[in-house]
Amino acid sequence: MKPVQDRHELLVSFVRDRIEPFVETWEAGGHYPPELYREAGEQGILAMGDPHWREDPASVVTAPSATRLSYIRSLNRAGSQAIAVALSAHLISLKILLEGAPDLFRLTAADILSGHQVINIALTEPGGGSNLNEVTTFAERGPNGRYLVSGNKAFVCHAQRASWLIVTARHGSPEAQEIGLFLVALGSCAKIKPLRPIGWQALPIGDVHMQETEAYPIALPGKPARRLLQSGLAAERLNLAALAVQSSVLALEQAVAFARERDIAGTPLLKRQAIAHRLADMKREICVSAAFLEQVASSSDKPDPIFLAMAKNTASQCFEAAARNAAQIAGGQGCLDDNLLARLYRDSRITPVGGGSEEMMLEIIASSL
Ligand SMILES: Cc1cc2nc3c(=O)[nH]c(=O)nc-3n(C[C@H](O)[C@H](O)[C@H](O)COP(=O)(O)OP(=O)(O)OC[C@H]3O[C@@H](n4cnc5c(N)ncnc54)[C@H](O)[C@@H]3O)c2cc1C
Repeated sequence: MKPVQDRHELLVSFVRDRIEPFVETWEAGGHYPPELYREAGEQGILAMGDPHWREDPASVVTAPSATRLSYIRSLNRAGSQAIAVALSAHLISLKILLEGAPDLFRLTAADILSGHQVINIALTEPGGGSNLNEVTTFAERGPNGRYLVSGNKAFVCHAQRASWLIVTARHGSPEAQEIGLFLVALGSCAKIKPLRPIGWQALPIGDVHMQETEAYPIALPGKPARRLLQSGLAAERLNLAALAVQSSVLALEQAVAFARERDIAGTPLLKRQAIAHRLADMKREICVSAAFLEQVASSSDKPDPIFLAMAKNTASQCFEAAARNAAQIAGGQGCLDDNLLARLYRDSRITPVGGGSEEMMLEIIASSL
């Protein structure tokens, strides 16, 4: 088995050589090249460097949360949340499949981890993403025990490239009470409308319209589907918090480097107490946010949803503040559009919304009062 150190070095060199130099071009173009995904699969990156993934793909998905956290933070060293999401979102979908429908996991895992197929979750609907009960997509029984899914999903990452989507759908008709989880084989029966959010610009994102699109059942409507959904959302919140923590670190590094170099009336900007204290406060907040996230991630294989909600809000608020502070310290340079500071500033709008908004995290925390 490859030592952990080798796996880490593989990831570090992939990020340094294959991602970092190209991020700005991909952001400006609105998407990263599909070959990157395949290359990441071939090199074992999509399997988080696990050398045994071909014989035992489940081992990738059952790896401790702390391993996933470290993987995502390493990916995001390139300063592109878009690429970090592109190369990690499949882990959430595969976790749902392994826990809910092992046969579907076996059907898809090898093609996904090798970079030949893309999978993502599509829960948000145009009518609202915060309330996951507001689902109008529905699934009807089709031939061969499969289902036919019809409806609309919004803001789907990788929509333009996905072979598979995990969707919530009502069973039988749009009015049916219970919601189930289905694995949709995206093909010619789905239409995609590309979107351009202010952040994550290198990641293709779109709205998806499905009309009798073929699907496999993952979890039947009712409790099994809800339990699986919560498990997937917990994993997603951890991923997003890890992204936010790493982006905050990058914002601090950028701000310190600028303040050290920038000369103001013969002294470096870093020597001004107002700036040094602002940076010190950023560092304090980032350390607290990172430590709390690590504690939540390593506390259990199934971290407490209330602590996860706290970790997500803490990390994303820390990132928003860090991105703003770093841009402010860089003065006019922080107002230019084609650099890491600008990207961090744009991306900092996404983590408080995606995977359950700040307000919904507060609802979860409030439920424990
Ligand atoms: C870049 C990006 C990528 C995304 N990728 C995906 C993806 O791959 N798959 C996917 O399924 N979704 C994805 N999303 C969607 C995301 O999860 C939703 O945008 C999010 O859950 C919020 O849903 P909404 O946009 O419908 O806002 P709404 O639910 O309409 O909420 C609007 C506002 O009202 C607040 N609000 C709602 N309910 C309450 C309440 N009860 N109390 C107080 N305030 C409330 C919300 O917090 C928010 O501020 C993505 C979003 C973005 C921006």
